[in-house]
Amino acid sequence: MTRDISDILKTNGFKITSTRLAILKVFSSDCKPINAEYIHDKLKKEKVNIVTIYRTLISFENAGIIKRVDMQKDSVYYELAGHHHHHIICTDCGMVESFDGCDLDNLSKEVLKSSNNFSLINKHSLELFGLCKKCCKN
Ligand SMILES: [Zn+2]
Ligand SMILES: [Zn+2]
Ligand SMILES: [Zn+2]
Repeated sequence: MTRDISDILKTNGFKITSTRLAILKVFSSDCKPINAEYIHDKLKKEKVNIVTIYRTLISFENAGIIKRVDMQKDSVYYELAGHHHHHIICTDCGMVESFDGCDLDNLSKEVLKSSNNFSLINKHSLELFGLCKKCCKN
């Protein structure tokens, strides 16, 4: 991560606080989608309130700094909104792998052609679920 964390806050109009910096730091050091509980655990020493984390995550999401990833779990997972990619998620151990190069833009065009109600598709999300090699062996 080359972009300075405090720069991300500044360019998005956030006041720089130690809590915001700490939360963003957790995101930039973990390349996998994470939830509020995970951040709370990582910031145990800093004693950050979980409610503050929830609020911060929502404001970061609204600013487009982070985006939701559908992990098909009860809690909401986020990751830094960076370059466009998707995930394969192991339903057994939760291992996450990213992949680029989806063909959904072409699919969207095809879908639009046959749609009676839509004239524009401007975003998509796609997560694949399966078993990793280790879990397949067990
Ligand atoms: Zn697995
Ligand atoms: Zn990702
Ligand atoms: Zn895509």
